[in-house]
Amino acid sequence: MLDYPFEQHVWAEIDLDALRQNFAAAKARAGGLPLCAVVKADAYGHGAVQCARALAGAGAAWLAVSCLAEALQLRRAGLDLPILILGHTDPKYAAALLQYKITQTCFSTPYARALSAAAVAAGGRIPVHLKADTGMGRIGFALRTDFEGAVAEMLAVWDLPGLEVKGLFQHFAVADADSEEDRAYTLEQHQLFLRAFEALKAAGREPELIHCGNSAGLMLHPDWPQGLPRERCMARPGIILYGFDPSDEVRFNQFRPVMKLKTVVSMVKEIQPGQSASYGRHFRAEKPTLAATLCAGYADGYPRLLSDGVGVVEIHGQPCRVLGRVCMDQMLVDVTGIPGVQEGDEAILWGGPASDSAETIAQKTGTISYEVLCGVARRVPRVYL
Ligand code: PLP
Repeated sequence: MLDYPFEQHVWAEIDLDALRQNFAAAKARAGGLPLCAVVKADAYGHGAVQCARALAGAGAAWLAVSCLAEALQLRRAGLDLPILILGHTDPKYAAALLQYKITQTCFSTPYARALSAAAVAAGGRIPVHLKADTGMGRIGFALRTDFEGAVAEMLAVWDLPGLEVKGLFQHFAVADADSEEDRAYTLEQHQLFLRAFEALKAAGREPELIHCGNSAGLMLHPDWPQGLPRERCMARPGIILYGFDPSDEVRFNQFRPVMKLKTVVSMVKEIQPGQSASYGRHFRAEKPTLAATLCAGYADGYPRLLSDGVGVVEIHGQPCRVLGRVCMDQMLVDVTGIPGVQEGDEAILWGGPASDSAETIAQKTGTISYEVLCGVARRVPRVYL
């Protein structure tokens, strides 16, 4: 029985079985390595708590989030798996990291010193994973610019009294691209990482846990643990868990989309030739057109760029094109020739067999499935199947 969101007219159906199956497929691809399930950004819009529970039940070893607020949401919901914050946490929250047993990414010497001092003041040692910047260029000890210096800085973190180095990781920049140049770059990143690991080892500092491998890294470069102690390696996938390939360049066809975005028809009417509909009067009927108005719009996460026939919605199993402009909370679709459409009928905005998928929407709007999924608004209830 659905916990039906009567107070809302648009909702996201989340198929937790698909999530669990995707997790199992990722785990098989990782050759049984433990997986750190990336559930940041509210589990890519799917609902972090419910997804994290399902992933924990499916065997996730770790959970990764982007910030402290996301980590605390999971802890307060009772999730006791190890949690890694991939981004910055203000050192003033050291006590919260300690209290909730959250592992923090440590990415630079100034940050390490500040976090260590805050941890000492809070009376504890914060577990950290060192982020090696091998070529992503966002945060991390800059191995690419100054290898020896970056290794020395990483080694110095071990000596800080308020931190406990538990792990080492990197992030691939173009693992989702399949050109020769991009493959070579990924390999270069990996070689740098291996060299850094060897240098730390030679200095007697071996992290307990080593992780690389976002979805694309895991799928296209599954042999990355070669040269590392496999029993300490972990992969860190995100998007494939939610059912999408990391980019157009790599097609795995092994993962099932987890989310369907749905709404209902509020009104059905015939638009006569010469009449127009929606803002800007972009749609002007040339022939009698049966239009269904839907209770969803761009404020729900349905992109306005899908206006004027670009988007395809499903009603009664049939594809229906968007008519005119998508509005904030309403939109119209063409249901001409589809018998029996009436107020209250369900419409699938994405994820149905006859509608767009989050991926085709991404292609049509010049973005990636990640952004489409993360764009589902807070006001849209997630309904778990
Ligand atoms: N690791 C880090 C550091 C990330 O920032 C991300 C996502 O942005 C991931 C892993 C997961 O990436 P993907 O969703 O492509 O698997």
